[in-house]
Amino acid sequence: MADSVRCSSCASPAVIDQPYRGAHLCGRHLTASVEERVRREIHRQLPRFSEGTVAVALSGGKDSSVALLLAHRYFGRRPTVRVVAVSVNEGIAGYRDGTLRAARELTERLGVAHVVVRARDELGTTTDLAAEGLPGTVPCSFCGVWRRQLLNRAARREGADALVLGFNLDDLAQTVLMNLVRGDLEHLARMAPHRVRQPGLVPRIAPLALVPEREVYLYARLHGLPFDHGECPHAGRAARNLFRSVVWELEEALPGTRQSLLRTHERLVERLLVDDGAGAPGCCRACGDPSAHELCRACEYLSSVRAAEASPAEAP
Ligand code: SF4
Ligand SMILES: [Zn+2]
Ligand SMILES: [Zn+2]
Repeated sequence: MADSVRCSSCASPAVIDQPYRGAHLCGRHLTASVEERVRREIHRQLPRFSEGTVAVALSGGKDSSVALLLAHRYFGRRPTVRVVAVSVNEGIAGYRDGTLRAARELTERLGVAHVVVRARDELGTTTDLAAEGLPGTVPCSFCGVWRRQLLNRAARREGADALVLGFNLDDLAQTVLMNLVRGDLEHLARMAPHRVRQPGLVPRIAPLALVPEREVYLYARLHGLPFDHGECPHAGRAARNLFRSVVWELEEALPGTRQSLLRTHERLVERLLVDDGAGAPGCCRACGDPSAHELCRACEYLSSVRAAEASPAEAP
């Protein structure tokens, strides 16, 4: 950002612009602005929470590292609230080791308990192995589903009352658009933040929901947080890449698009929950986890992996 651009709240040089509200901010006011949005979202998404356990999903990337820092600051002052970080090791060579190292460094710095669950132990497979066994399937489809399942299990074991996710405004806007394009009402209804408690599912909240990715990144840098910049070797095949570009182009042409997508989602969810209970699943017959179908998607993918292992030649 050019030195001549000044903060909209003081005379200091600006470090970032916020085209969606026509403002520029210096580091100090960016910090205040991010922290205020996160504080309000925690308050809104987890009202009147003063006692219990909060699990924070920590990948070791910038978003979840900022989410942990701010959750720790917000809840850590209360002796009646316990904060625990939960990481999943999906088994991705050359990627997960670096992110888990950053996650460990941050939890040690903050003095927060840290639990790591391994896909190999919990599911008997890894993302890398499954990617080999199912070459026609984009790895993110099963990897994301398994990670959600393992995070939920780990949070449940910790007795967590809420699971904090590091999704930022860009992530959520992309997910809303992706589900709208696919006509996937079930997913739209089940997106974080959760409005309805479902048995077996630790309610997820997304305190960074109103903070754009660029601001999260800068906040993490300004506060010296350890986080890993590495990219997953499977990421190139994700459908999300297309939606990332589309949302970015829309945002450039029409600042505020991301916030509009989130508002659209909020309104839709209110109707979906009232109209047909799209957000209220039953239980998976294989693992017992919450599921809208007889088999949850995590178990469906696992059975495909096992079928491919049993007869590799016939695997799709
Ligand atoms: S990019 Fe895809 S495969 Fe890699 S960790 Fe994320 S969800 Fe898993
Ligand atoms: Zn300022
Ligand atoms: Zn299942």
